[in-house]
Amino acid sequence: MIAQCDSGLTVGQPRFLSEGAGSNPSLSLHFLEIDTPRAEALVVEHHYLHCECPISWAWGIEDADGKLLGVLTVGKLMSWSVRCGLVGETHEQMKEPGARSGDVYELNRLWLSDTLPVFEVQKVDKKTGELKTHRHGVESRFIGWCLHQLKKKYPNIILVSYADGSKDHVGYVYQATNWIYTGQRQALADICVEGYADHRSVTQELRGGYAYACEEHGKFPTPYSPLPYPPTRPCQECGNPARRLGCRSWAIQDYVADTSGNKLKVYRKPRSPKHRYVWFANPEDRQLLKGKWAPKPYPKVAAKGEHEAQVESARQGADAELGESAKEETK
Ligand SMILES: [Zn+2]
Repeated sequence: MIAQCDSGLTVGQPRFLSEGAGSNPSLSLHFLEIDTPRAEALVVEHHYLHCECPISWAWGIEDADGKLLGVLTVGKLMSWSVRCGLVGETHEQMKEPGARSGDVYELNRLWLSDTLPVFEVQKVDKKTGELKTHRHGVESRFIGWCLHQLKKKYPNIILVSYADGSKDHVGYVYQATNWIYTGQRQALADICVEGYADHRSVTQELRGGYAYACEEHGKFPTPYSPLPYPPTRPCQECGNPARRLGCRSWAIQDYVADTSGNKLKVYRKPRSPKHRYVWFANPEDRQLLKGKWAPKPYPKVAAKGEHEAQVESARQGADAELGESAKEETK
């Protein structure tokens, strides 16, 4: 068992001892802030996504030999629609000074080594009837400590974090550390181009410029340009002003052409469904959650989604939000 270290939470480096932790009967661990390069290396090496993420703050779990056995990172949330939605602001309001959407960050990576002592908490899986061992002892204590550090640095910060349904994650660790559950992530699908591994690797030229829409003749694509796109452009059919949409051209096209004129198919990859949790450093900010972001009871099973339905709804809504999909969170 791990000794309680709650009283240590107010000091810089709380220490706790574990006993009976397999081959490490007296593994001594402590939590500490770590720099971005160190955190990045751990994330790329160990976290199941194996890719970098924006990091503003990071903390680690260090053993007596100075080896890091866990990492938690907090960084900028790429999706502006989530930043706005969470605090009830519009896209326009988020540009105003004092906009709360600027306080929204993401707990974007959490990794704990399998060698960490296991807190022998066993629960019966309701579906399979099997006993499952959980490691929440260290995990929730670590998260709790990190949140406490973060609150000292940034008293008004707001965090969002996701539990990946495709990895069978429910988010118990967020439940154990009093996050607010706000439902499943919107059913969106990432746009992609044939021959590219994911949307982030598709070139600007293939994505094209912003799409425009004429009231009478509908949407049309424009070529990529590094210059700003005017709010209106003459429609190719009638010459009337067509308004700029919130999406790039590839989002409205079935095919795009590369520089050699080859046609490449545009398709949409469904994203894995995720449970979304929110944490406020200032509990009074909880009142910001309204409407579809209103708090909901904690889930007991991983997020599930019907991929067909996701793809279909994403296609139909291939407007403003899809244009932003390249900037959405990359967890
Ligand atoms: Zn027209």
